Amino acid sequence: MLQEAEALLQKIYGYAAFRPVQKQIIASILNGTDTLGILPTGGGKSICFQIPALLLGGVTIVISPLISLMKDQVDHLTKIGVRSAYINSSLDGQEVHDILLRARYGIYKILYIAPERLQSASFRQFLQALSPALVAIDEAHCISQWGHDFRPSYHAIHDFLRSLPIRPVIAAFTATATEQVAKEIVHLLALQEPSVFIGGFDRKNLYYSVHRVKEKFRAVLEYVNTQRGKAGIIYASTRKKVDELYHLFQEQNLPVLKYHAGLQETERVAYQNAFLQKDGRIMIATNAFGMGIHKPDIRFVIHYNMPRTIEDYYQEAGRAGRDGHPSECLLFYSSQDVRLQSALIEKSPGGPRKKAHDYLKLQSMVDFCHMQSCLRNYILHYFAETPGAPCQNCSNCLNRHEVTDVTREAQMVLSCIRRMNEAGDSKAIAQVLLGKDSQAITEHRWDELSTYGLLRHTYSYTYVVELIHILAAEGYLTVTPDSHQLLKVTDKAIPLLKGALTLSLWLGEEASPGSRLAHSSK
Ligand code: ADP
Ligand code: ZN
Repeated sequence: MLQEAEALLQKIYGYAAFRPVQKQIIASILNGTDTLGILPTGGGKSICFQIPALLLGGVTIVISPLISLMKDQVDHLTKIGVRSAYINSSLDGQEVHDILLRARYGIYKILYIAPERLQSASFRQFLQALSPALVAIDEAHCISQWGHDFRPSYHAIHDFLRSLPIRPVIAAFTATATEQVAKEIVHLLALQEPSVFIGGFDRKNLYYSVHRVKEKFRAVLEYVNTQRGKAGIIYASTRKKVDELYHLFQEQNLPVLKYHAGLQETERVAYQNAFLQKDGRIMIATNAFGMGIHKPDIRFVIHYNMPRTIEDYYQEAGRAGRDGHPSECLLFYSSQDVRLQSALIEKSPGGPRKKAHDYLKLQSMVDFCHMQSCLRNYILHYFAETPGAPCQNCSNCLNRHEVTDVTREAQMVLSCIRRMNEAGDSKAIAQVLLGKDSQAITEHRWDELSTYGLLRHTYSYTYVVELIHILAAEGYLTVTPDSHQLLKVTDKAIPLLKGALTLSLWLGEEASPGSRLAHSSK
């Protein structure tokens, strides 16, 4: 059957071969096994259920929350000769009636439906009569309260599946699933001994880099000037920042556009169209920009501010290089971004468990900005994909930073944290080590500790805070998942504290991010 699947891929879709994870998923579904596929956006999910739909008898139901995506896919399927339709709130009563009629007569191979439909008893009866061979659930993370896009209507899916006279094969798909969300998908959909496949997160043509620089604007300006004529996106965290950057870059005669939710609809559309239709424009935007944007030749994505989660970062950075050509993703870190994101988490409506969860995700993002090994492998690991050798295509792999032995400094930080009874955040710890005064220091009598002022004459505040963040990113410290952000010493740090291990790191301001492409072409 897999050979037939490959033949269909070539004949109907015109692609030479399956991507490795597509092949595994399709084989599993054709084998009659419930399947959970975790693939990033652009990873090629749709083929994973469309091809089995063509090979299995009867009809396949695809449950999807995205109305515009349904239309795109059905348009595309119709073009390549696959009989398909969708039912969602964009259709009127007569159109729905016609589709139901055709479906009853077995005209369709693939029928897309919005999850809300399942709440109607008559619609469920209609589906029972169809007795689908395969039910594919797209955006399956919507079933989880811990996902970023919870939809109550997804909870109706389980009852619907149970109500079917013959149990179909069930295939669930999502782009981002932490272990917890994946477990919940399996549990809430009652998947039976499912095969789980994770893959396609490695975007080999993307160069990832992280920059911790003081003069961020100048660094970005310098970079963008090396990229004239190329299309790019600069993401900033707030509307105000977008407006400010737009103004400043415009003054530098750069072909900038902007996009955020505070603009008039007509303005937004005009900027977006200019970005899509004209060459070499730079879009400065909040994260409101990008959904459903199909522009394959975006050569760089700059994060002027750090996003809240690796998922957000991966998705936004992933808008670069859709055409497969080398492209660059630059992330500029600043501690203010962490404070902004923490404040947003505090203000968010979730309870303490949800907040703790959000803080852990934020910490993974902060760790990404401070770790010293391969950035790509960190991302792959985060999405539970097995990483390979260091990629040689990220700033950590490529930058030949000078490392220095910081064993002694690290020991001082660790022992200071212990002496403070693990009751301080990075700011408090740095202040103690530098011998500063603060209310917290007086209150806790931290100025009486033997570590008080130990680094006073040797290091700056920035250096010590950075060292603390790096120690956390490298697993020597953990941060409490709450607004206090207190640092605790981990077991991994014990040999370091005891002097059984030395530690060499690179710290401090880098010269300039530059462009790897610009440099390599010199
Ligand atoms: P997703 O739904 O996971 O976001 P799509 O199914 O829309 O991704 O596929 C993303 C892109 O990759 C599409 O342009 C699709 O045509 C292309 N694609 C998918 N599978 C293959 C393949 N095996 N070979 C080449 N291109 C593929
Ligand atoms: Zn790397």
